[in-house]
Amino acid sequence: MLSRRVAQLEPSATLTITAKAKELKAKGVDIVGFGAGEPDFDTPDFVKEACTKALMEGKTKYAPSAGIPELREALAEKLYRENGVEYKPSEIVVSAGAKMVLFLIFMSILNDGDEVLLLSPYWVTYPEQIKLLGGVPIEVPLKEEEGFSPTAELVAEYITDKTKAIVLNSPNNPTGAVYSQEELKRIAELCLERGIFLISDECYEAFVYEDKFVSPASFSKEVRDITFTVNAFSKTYSMTGWRVGYVACPEKYAKVIANLNSQTVSNVTTFAQYGALEALRNPEAKEYVSRMKTEFQRRRDRAYELLLTIPEVKVFKPKGAFYIFPDFSFYAEKLGSDLKLTQFLLEEGKVACVPGSAFGAQGYLRLSYATSMNNIEKGIERIRETLEKLA
Ligand code: PLP
Repeated sequence: MLSRRVAQLEPSATLTITAKAKELKAKGVDIVGFGAGEPDFDTPDFVKEACTKALMEGKTKYAPSAGIPELREALAEKLYRENGVEYKPSEIVVSAGAKMVLFLIFMSILNDGDEVLLLSPYWVTYPEQIKLLGGVPIEVPLKEEEGFSPTAELVAEYITDKTKAIVLNSPNNPTGAVYSQEELKRIAELCLERGIFLISDECYEAFVYEDKFVSPASFSKEVRDITFTVNAFSKTYSMTGWRVGYVACPEKYAKVIANLNSQTVSNVTTFAQYGALEALRNPEAKEYVSRMKTEFQRRRDRAYELLLTIPEVKVFKPKGAFYIFPDFSFYAEKLGSDLKLTQFLLEEGKVACVPGSAFGAQGYLRLSYATSMNNIEKGIERIRETLEKLA
């Protein structure tokens, strides 16, 4: 009785393992969790205070669908100041996290059978959203030896008459790769030549440890005009539960997305938007983000160093985000799959990791280092000891 679209929706492979980890934790078992896709820092007090103030002042009613004007203005300033791209507030739409923003973009541009290029490994949600909307996700496999970074030549091989868009996510979830700026430019040129939209998911912008973050929309006016720049407050300000994300794009597309927003979520929680506004305006915000980044970098270095001590595991050193994505194929093959390996590590080692197959990369494991240094040291040691049983 359900729709065909919903029937083909894949259940999240990561859920099984997370649910099992939660069940064990509830029973009092000491589990080290590497599954979290969110910073372990608290939302800054100044953000919470601005939200509470708005709430107490009665900012509790419907707001404009595209977002409160002050927030869209502050976002236009941020995009100009930090990303070097000029957007008018009317070219910005605020929706319920980057996830909903992406869904609305796909809904705006896809017809049945349209193809969307996904650089693999990719974030789990992209293919599911694309399929739900009648599109066809096309995987473009990236090589670890090339730093999980794409080249224009590789992307060109996968373009067909049906290609509508490419999704870029740098810094990347799950690999932590930061794509080469030069290649990004060449890919953007290729998109221009072939009439393909560029969707740039910049959620991890704040966490780049080597290289420099760059927004493709800043390359040229022409590239800006085919780009959807997607971002959120979720990771940068540790506001995952607030559900505030946004897209910046030419006004003709922004209008459609705002319309879709008005017919689906109506608007992002009004007082939450005032909290987000404070995150952009408060002078302490820079220091808050910079402290978090320094801590993540320290943890990345330690996690990398410790993972290297596990025999038969290949470790790619991430350049950004807060994930590390080592190749555990040697052990995954012994057990049959990476999902089986995560189950084994959970049951035998009391460590929760996410299988790489959820991101299109069988044999890998994703570990989030958005957890304490103590957990990182304890958890990786547990992995090492547990895998000794398989060696
Ligand atoms: N894009 C990527 C690459 C992500 O990793 C995530 C969250 O894990 C999101 C988007 C979703 O962000 P939000 O919580 O703002 O919806």
